[in-house]
Amino acid sequence: MSQVRPPLAARTDNLVGSIIDSSTSLLAAQTHDIVSLAMGAPADDAVPLETFREIAGSSMEHSTLTYGASEGEPRLVRELLNYLSTTADPTSEDRIVITAGGMQGLDLACKLFVDPGDLVIIESPTYTNGSATALSYGADLLEVPVDTDGMVVEQLPDLVAKTGKTPTAIYTIPNFQNPSGTTLSEERRRRLIELAHEWGAVIIDDDPYGLLRFAGDDVPSFRSLSPNDPLIFSVRTFSKILAPGLRVGWVDVDPSLKQLIINAKQAMDTCTNVPAQHLVAEFIRRGGLDEHLAGLRSGYRERKNAMIGSIDKYLGDRVRTTDPDGGFFLWVTLQGDDKATSTQKLFETALAEGVAFIPGPALSPGGYFDDALRVCFASSTPERIDEGVKRLAAALDRAAGE
Ligand code: PMP
Repeated sequence: MSQVRPPLAARTDNLVGSIIDSSTSLLAAQTHDIVSLAMGAPADDAVPLETFREIAGSSMEHSTLTYGASEGEPRLVRELLNYLSTTADPTSEDRIVITAGGMQGLDLACKLFVDPGDLVIIESPTYTNGSATALSYGADLLEVPVDTDGMVVEQLPDLVAKTGKTPTAIYTIPNFQNPSGTTLSEERRRRLIELAHEWGAVIIDDDPYGLLRFAGDDVPSFRSLSPNDPLIFSVRTFSKILAPGLRVGWVDVDPSLKQLIINAKQAMDTCTNVPAQHLVAEFIRRGGLDEHLAGLRSGYRERKNAMIGSIDKYLGDRVRTTDPDGGFFLWVTLQGDDKATSTQKLFETALAEGVAFIPGPALSPGGYFDDALRVCFASSTPERIDEGVKRLAAALDRAAGE
């Protein structure tokens, strides 16, 4: 019997897994003290635990322990719309479907737009869980460089022409990109919308961090630059602004797509976790979200500055970093002699020294950026960040000496 092999579908070849997600269990298995700058999770003290505890009891009703509406609990949709009406991106009910986090939004986008062999444009580096979703539907990925203004859109026409294909989707993380921390400029957003129209490609606008700007001015969203545009598919989540374990997010799409998305969800998970939706709805109803976000922004500003300060102190000219205006991440590129150090190999040494990060190659499907790494400043206190960067410098010394 042990010889019998299950009849795996061809698409399983494209299920590549996530080094980012696997680091959660890897780090949990360590027995020594580790400063984790690896995962992009909010700090424990950034999660409104007491309020959630208080609300949790009343979220457990018969009505919330049964199946809910596939498009999302009406109560959450109402509270979300109310909240968004106070931001630069108000929206309407006919555009919204509640999802199991941003990842399900990305899965739904790819399910709708990606057939095997389709060309999907991604940023390089990128959030590889997102590109892995496109891969899982058989996409051909085209990596496009990122600079301090986000994806280098100017290079796109030439890069696409070389593939001999017309893209069906463009996956972008426009604000405080994961992992580079950079923000796509308004000019590039406008050009990307033009190109999307030229190609008939959808823009998968994945923006978990947009509400976490702690410096500078907002850049207009794709939707505000091109209202009622069926080619803009926006993916949002409460993971970074409330708590990732809730698994609650939403998509904001052209109304013509809403029923298809509901159909896709009905073939997938019926509805999003109902008690979790009620927790979020009640949190927003109580009016705490604005204050909560303001607290996160000032906390993350302090932590980003602390991380830049510690990097200056312990690493100086040995690295160059991005300097994001929001979000969770800094992208660190090794300089000079240290460029020869593989960050993939450095990871092991760093773990032994008691610090974890995500090596650059894990953040591009092509495995580029072996001289770079991603660090998250959001989940540790300034003191822990300082200790983590000190350990990183020690690991780099050890690696350089080997
Ligand atoms: N997109 C990006 C760019 C992210 O950084 C993340 C989370 N790390 C997600 C999507 C996934 O969000 P969620 O946890 O809500 O599924």
